Amino acid sequence: MAKRDYYEILGVSKSASKDEIKKAYRKLALKYHPDKNPGNKEAEDKFKEASEAYEVLSNDQKRQKYDRFGHSGMQSGADYHEYSDFSDIFSSFGDIFSDLFGGGQRQRRSKTGMTPQRGHDLSYKIEINFKDSYLGTKKDIAIYHYVKCETCNASGSKPGTKPEKCSHCNGTGSINYRQGFFSFAQTCNICNGQGFIIKTPCSTCAGKSRIQKRDVLTINIPAGIYNGAELRVRGRGDAGVYGGTSGDLYLHVQVIEDKKFWRKNNNLITNLYLTYPQLVLGCQVEIENIDDQKISIKIPKGTSVGKEIIIPGKGFPVPGSFSRGNLIIVAKCHIPTRLSASAKKLLMEYSEKIGTDTKNSDGGISGFFKKFLG
Ligand SMILES: [Zn+2]
Ligand SMILES: [Zn+2]
Repeated sequence: MAKRDYYEILGVSKSASKDEIKKAYRKLALKYHPDKNPGNKEAEDKFKEASEAYEVLSNDQKRQKYDRFGHSGMQSGADYHEYSDFSDIFSSFGDIFSDLFGGGQRQRRSKTGMTPQRGHDLSYKIEINFKDSYLGTKKDIAIYHYVKCETCNASGSKPGTKPEKCSHCNGTGSINYRQGFFSFAQTCNICNGQGFIIKTPCSTCAGKSRIQKRDVLTINIPAGIYNGAELRVRGRGDAGVYGGTSGDLYLHVQVIEDKKFWRKNNNLITNLYLTYPQLVLGCQVEIENIDDQKISIKIPKGTSVGKEIIIPGKGFPVPGSFSRGNLIIVAKCHIPTRLSASAKKLLMEYSEKIGTDTKNSDGGISGFFKKFLG
């Protein structure tokens, strides 16, 4: 019987790329697979034929030779094999099926016991007051989490005993079904994929390798922490299963607002109420910073309301550096709502002196405005 053309067998053109050739072969391999065509001699021959064509055309040198000399240039045994058995084909081309059939030749991992799993991360909210965000603080928080079982040292087995290899899956954790080229892996439902079974569980943790516990942790909160910051405490989440690493604890920091101070970037800001004479004439005043420290500041004469007096380096620490933001003091004018008779008299005299009329105090346009409007 005359041999068919290799390109024709695979159904590709003479200029087909390696990839096209591979795809074409895989398609035929699936179509003529003996599992799909039991006892079908024709399918078997087609499968062998396609494999031979693929063997030649997938190799650059052999393909060149075939293009020049055709079948007459090809030598059986050297350039191609006459496959008699499917397992030969599989061992020659198994790699091209591996992604198709789910890894028929994948190595089985050998296990010695239960598989460790990392514990979950935990997340808690933590509230601190504004002053503590400036100074830094220590805070005790109570958390409920899994900790390693000390009785069994996180093995889950009663001390002195060991998990036994699952006989259903022979310790691999999965059951492989194989039919010819096809191989399916399914998680073993006897051991839940562990490959091992705890026959004599630890009585403290009931074989779970960890127990739930309330713990109080002392957390260091660094100075300069901002509202909404997230602190990670490594390894303080849930303990891992069967000795796996612990998860982390995440603390979401909420800074409670202060009545007197607030923050902008790394600056600490406060209002300072001064009397009108203090603003006009200037003065030296002492203020108390958020850390209760007294700071003496000079208010220059002619300070207008809203002017910012900057005390460098008294703000929040700048994360990742040794510098600090500034303390910004915003000048405000204190307006008294009650005045003694003598103080009122003096203020009116002063008003007259600078040419403003304050007598019309129950509405209407005051002299002050008259002066500017008139
Ligand atoms: Zn235990
Ligand atoms: Zn099993």
